This record gives sequence, C-alpha cells and structure tokens, in this order.
Amino acid sequence: MLPRFETERIAQEWIGDRVAWNLRALVLDFCIEAEKHDWSPLITCLLRTIQEDLALHGNAIHCVGRAADIRTMDIQPDAVVEVCEAINKRWEYNRGDKRNLLCAVSKEHGTGPHIHLQVNPMTKIIGWDQ
Ligand SMILES: [Zn+2]
Repeated sequence: MLPRFETERIAQEWIGDRVAWNLRALVLDFCIEAEKHDWSPLITCLLRTIQEDLALHGNAIHCVGRAADIRTMDIQPDAVVEVCEAINKRWEYNRGDKRNLLCAVSKEHGTGPHIHLQVNPMTKIIGWDQ
C-alpha cells in the first residue's frame, strides 16, 4: 500500500531523490500498519525549504529529507496510538542515542494534529542486521 499525498508538490518530492531511503521504508511500513485500521495515510508535509521550516519553528529535519507528516485529524485516536506503538516497537531511531527519540511522534500542535515520522542515517528496523 502506498501513501496518499496532500499536494502534487509532495507527490513529486516522494518520487524525487531527496527523501532518505530509510524514511521511505518507514513510511511504507507505517502504511501497512495503518491498513489494519482501514486507514490510508495522507502525507501533508515531506520536504521544507529553510524559510518554510523557520516559519513553522521546525528543527530542520524536514529540510534534509528525514521526516514526513501524516494527517490524523480524521482518524480514530485509538488507531493513531496503536499504529505509532507498533512502529516504535519495530523501528529504532538511533541505537545508543540516550535521548531515546522515537520514529513516530504524535503531535497535537503546529499545523494541526499529525504524526511526525522521522529517521536519521542510523534508523532501522530492530534486528534487521542480526
Ligand atoms: Zn514533521
């Protein structure tokens, strides 16, 4: 199952070369998990320019192709929690990083209720390399 895109710009970003490979894998895994709740995820933000990120008080992770926002406004809260939990159980943002950052973060503020999916270059499915 593929994600849906809020705008043509986001659809073009998805097929372009600036989105991190492991963010693509994370988004697709998220879509598989969401399908269990009859939820077809809509991506509302992928890449941002520096100016767009400053206006939203971001931390620049959207500027470098390592984050995607998924709309949750119209989704059952239980489904949002369950899909995020499943993703965070399976995906490790960065082994050894003491901040314990998560790959799927449910956010109520900013541009409306959404899930922020994020990776860094070390992010992977737990146990993939064993
Ligand atoms: Zn975000």
